[in-house]
Amino acid sequence: MKRRLTGYIFLVAFISLITFIVSEYYIRKIDVEIDYHNQRIGILYNAHEVLYHMVAIQEGLYSLNYGTFKADTQIKYHMKELDEGIENLSKGVGYIYYSGMDDQLFRTYSHHVDVIEMVHPKFVKNVNAALAATGPERDIAIKGVIESNEGIEAILSEIEKFMDNEYKLVSKSLPTVTGEMRMIRNVSGSLLFLAIVISSYFMFRTCSAFKKLQTFVDSIKKGDFTSKLQVDDANQCCRELGGSINILMDKINLKEDSSASLVITDPLTGAYNRRYFDMRINDEMNRCIRYGTIFSLSIIDLDHFKEVNDTYGHQAGDSVLKELIILIKDNIRDTDIVARYGGEEFVIIYPCTPRLGVLTQLERLRMVVESHKFIDLDRPVTISVGAADSAGKDDAAMVIQEADSSLYLAKRSGRNKCVIVGVTT
Ligand code: GH3
Ligand code: MG
Ligand code: MG
Repeated sequence: MKRRLTGYIFLVAFISLITFIVSEYYIRKIDVEIDYHNQRIGILYNAHEVLYHMVAIQEGLYSLNYGTFKADTQIKYHMKELDEGIENLSKGVGYIYYSGMDDQLFRTYSHHVDVIEMVHPKFVKNVNAALAATGPERDIAIKGVIESNEGIEAILSEIEKFMDNEYKLVSKSLPTVTGEMRMIRNVSGSLLFLAIVISSYFMFRTCSAFKKLQTFVDSIKKGDFTSKLQVDDANQCCRELGGSINILMDKINLKEDSSASLVITDPLTGAYNRRYFDMRINDEMNRCIRYGTIFSLSIIDLDHFKEVNDTYGHQAGDSVLKELIILIKDNIRDTDIVARYGGEEFVIIYPCTPRLGVLTQLERLRMVVESHKFIDLDRPVTISVGAADSAGKDDAAMVIQEADSSLYLAKRSGRNKCVIVGVTT
């Protein structure tokens, strides 16, 4: 679970990283493009600045000459601003040159800016001369200023012609740029959304499988080993885990069943053993007392079995016991319980049956045994049976006691007999 969660976190982080790198790449590209346009517009702006300050200086000189201005403070201020404007102009051109994005339009700007830079020192020289001179000398200097000013103005008006084109270019590329930005946002958003949905889906499936596993473990804790783990809709890993647990549970249940049956079965004959008989007869007795019903019990003992062993051997004796149990089982009802009481004695419990009800059946069994050809023997074997029922008795021991007494009577009266109190066959 923890490993899976870490995997999902890494997946989301990885997709986020890829999305970030791709969008960062495009955003940087767009940034450069926007910056490029800014710089080109900056060139135009600075060209206008230069022009503005030159005109202001020229007008300042006239005002000074005609005595409208007393001081040259304004002119000096515009001179400083003019210097700055020209510096910015060449910086913008330099930027485009170094960014390698120059084109025909830029080359025209660049050429014009070169010319302005060439004319500019002459203009400054003329202005300074006009400021230093007085009277007719100043008039001559102002003429010089006007001349160089006109040269620059012509260049600037050239630049201005391109301005419209420049704006058109920017206004055309802006929607493309915003469109690209929108696309990046949509693609990256969709990718992240997809990653989160996929991760959540797998997480949900894993969680539901583990929830089932938890329910299954809880039922095992409560001692229910029969429940099965249902993980068909889970992923491969959980299905395999669930399948293995189910196989394991089947094996445990099988082992438990067989060991439980070993505890209550006689290994030689396969009938129930004495332990089970004791348990069942007490259960029957309790049931009869509680519900006022009745049950019968018979004890079967092989006649002169010692002789069989002595004559044919112990193994032949064993096989007689095994064959006898088959004969007994063939002659009782499914609800009757047959157990090995000890040695060569067997007991049968007949639930809900009075003692006279078992008489016919016992007599038939006696005759079947008498006429049966036992495999290892060349002579017949007979049984003596004593039977009793629970009527009028308080505990199971009294029923056993009465059946045992009847068996004793059967032996005493010559064997190969069924004795039930009051009836002897
Ligand atoms: P009776 O007619 O009086 O019952 O004579 P019996 O020889 O059967 O006498 P008893 O019941 O006293 O003897 C029981 C004999 O059963 C003794 C023993 O050799 C034999 N026996 C008991 N358990 C087994 C067994 O598991 N296998 C074999 N082969 N013989 C057993
Ligand atoms: Mg005996
Ligand atoms: Mg015997």
